[in-house]
Amino acid sequence: MEMKKSSKISMLLSSVMLLGLYGCNNSGEETSSNDSAESSEGVQGTGSGYHGDIVAEVTFSGDQIEAIEIIEENENESLAEPVFTEMRDAMVEQNSTDVDSISGATGSSEGLKEAVDDAIEQAGVTLSAGESADSSSELEDEYNFDVVVVGGGGAGFSAAIEAAESGLDVVLIEKMPVMGGNTLISGGEMNVPNNWVQENLGIEGDSIEIFIEDTLEGGDHLGDPEMVEVLAENALDAAEWMRDDINVEFYEDQLFQFGGHSFQRALIPEGHTGLEVITKFEQKAEELGVEMFTETEAKKLIEEDDRIVGVEAENNGKTVTFNAENGVILTTGGFGANVDMRMEANENYDDRYLTTNSPGATGDGITMAREVGAAVTNMENIQTYPVSNPVTGAISLFADTRFDGAALINQEGERFVEELERRDVISNAILEQPGEYAYQIWDKALSDSTRTMEMHEAEFKKLKEDDLVIEAETLEEAAEFFDIPLDTFLETVEKINEYAENGEDPDFNHRAGLAPIKEGPFYVQKAVPSVHHTMGGLLTDVDTHVLNEDGEIIEGLYAAGELTGSTHGSNRLGGNAITDIIVFGRIAGQQVAK
Ligand code: ADP
Repeated sequence: MEMKKSSKISMLLSSVMLLGLYGCNNSGEETSSNDSAESSEGVQGTGSGYHGDIVAEVTFSGDQIEAIEIIEENENESLAEPVFTEMRDAMVEQNSTDVDSISGATGSSEGLKEAVDDAIEQAGVTLSAGESADSSSELEDEYNFDVVVVGGGGAGFSAAIEAAESGLDVVLIEKMPVMGGNTLISGGEMNVPNNWVQENLGIEGDSIEIFIEDTLEGGDHLGDPEMVEVLAENALDAAEWMRDDINVEFYEDQLFQFGGHSFQRALIPEGHTGLEVITKFEQKAEELGVEMFTETEAKKLIEEDDRIVGVEAENNGKTVTFNAENGVILTTGGFGANVDMRMEANENYDDRYLTTNSPGATGDGITMAREVGAAVTNMENIQTYPVSNPVTGAISLFADTRFDGAALINQEGERFVEELERRDVISNAILEQPGEYAYQIWDKALSDSTRTMEMHEAEFKKLKEDDLVIEAETLEEAAEFFDIPLDTFLETVEKINEYAENGEDPDFNHRAGLAPIKEGPFYVQKAVPSVHHTMGGLLTDVDTHVLNEDGEIIEGLYAAGELTGSTHGSNRLGGNAITDIIVFGRIAGQQVAK
C-alpha cells in the first residue's frame, strides 16, 4: 500500500498544529525548507497576502535558491498551510517562483510568490533555469479497499474512523489540497442537549424533546421527524465520542445559543473554529491506518449488478480506480459554492450572492449519486448566513458577539429585526434594508466577555483593512465612519442600553437580552447575507442508505453530512450541522461494516 501521501499529510498536520499553537509569526525549523542549509545571509522580500503582508527570507547559493524561510504571515492557518510548506518547497526544488498555486489559497500563494520575487530582485540574482515541475500523479491505477469515503470534512472523517474502528480497510479521498471542507472553516459549534457544559454552568431544563422541537420548528416542519429524532438521540453520545475518543477539547465554561434554540446548548471546540475538530480527526484517522489522499477528486460511481462497487477518481490528471468491497460513503458536502447548481435548485440564489463555503462545496456527491438513480429532496431550500463579509462572502466569526447580545442596525441607524431570529428571517430582513446590508454594533465589554477579538483577530485586521469594521473610541466617530445619522444612532444606542438594563426589548423581543453599549472602544461592522448551507440533497434513510426514486436502497451506497436532504427542512439551525455530520457520519461508518 502506498504510504507516501499519508505521511505527507501527517507532516502537514503537525505544522498546522504548530501554527495553531505558536501563532502566525513563524520562523526557525518548522518553516525552514532546508535545515542543513549553511546560514549564508538571507534577503527579505515582502508580498501582499490575503490577510496582510507576507515576508520571506531567501538565501541563495550562486544562482540557486537555497532556502526560503517565512518570517511573517497572517494567513488562514490551515487553508494557507500548504503555501508555506508544499509550495515553498516547490520553489526551492524547481529554483523558480513559477510554480503551481495552491487551490483554495490563491491570495496567499500570490503573496508568497511576490515576496520571494521581491527578495530575488533585491539580491540582484538571476536564477538558473529551474527543473520543470513534476506534476504527474504518484498514485497507482487501481486500489482495493473495503470502504471508500469520498470527501474529507467532518462527516467523512466520522465515517472513515468508525469503519476503521470496526477493522475495515478504509480510504478517504479529498479533492482539495487540504482536508476539512466547510467543517474546517466553520465555528465548529455542536448542539447537544443535556451536555456536560450545561451541567457545569447550571443550565437546567433542556431535553432531547425540546431539541427535536426546536429543530423541526426551525425547519418549518419540513424536516423528516425520524431523522431529527436520530440526530437528537445520538447527539450526546457523539459529543462524548468526540471528546473521549477523538480528543477534541471543548471549552468547559462556555456555550453558544444560536438563533431558534431554546437553550444554550452548543459546545465550542478550542480556538472556536473547526480547526480543532479536523486536526484531531486527522490524527485519529492516521492512528487507525485510514489511507488518505488529497487532490483526488471523485468523478463517478462504479456500478455492477445494481450495486455500487467503487469510485473513479482523478489525481493530477490521472484516472484512479478505488474498488470498495463493502461500500462507498459519500460525504462531499453541499453545493453552496456551485452557482449553476444553486440556480437550478432555486433561481433566487444567483451570483448576486457570495458564499461562506469552501470552494470544494460544489455538490459533486449529489451529482454522482443522481447519475446512478438516487433521489433528491428539499433542493430549493438554501440558507444564507446573515452576517458575512460583503467583499469575500466569508462568514464573520468576529461578529459572534451577536449571540451574546450585539445589536443589528441599518444605514439609518435603526434596529429592524430580533438579532437571535433564525438565519433566514434575519437575512431576509437585511435584504429589505436600504442598500441590502446591515451593521452590527457592540462595545469593549462584550468583545472581552465573548473573547471574539482574542480568537478572531486576524479576521478583524482584514475587515479593518477593507473598511468593513470600525474600532472607535467614541460613538460619534463610529457613526461618522459609516455615514450613519448621528441622532438616530445615539437614540438607538440609548434604547438598547435601556432594554439591556430592564431585560426587556419591547421593539423586537430579543429572547436572551441585548448587551449594553457603554464602554469604548465601540465596534461597528458592515455585513451582508451570504450563501451558507444547502439544506437539500440526497434522500437517505436513518441508516444512511441512499434511496432511489422508488424509495428503495441503492446497494453499496451511503451518504452523510450536508449532501443529504431530509433532516433540516427549510432551514438548518446554527450549530446543528456539526451534530448532523458527526451523528450520521458515524452511522454510515457503522452501517458499512455490517
Ligand atoms: P460535511 O460538513 O458534510 O462533512 P464538508 O464541506 O465539511 O461537508 O466536507 C466535504 C468535503 O468533500 C470537502 O472537503 C470537499 O472538498 C470534499 N469534496 C467535494 N467534492 C469532492 C469530490 N468529488 N471528491 C473528493 N472530495 C470532494
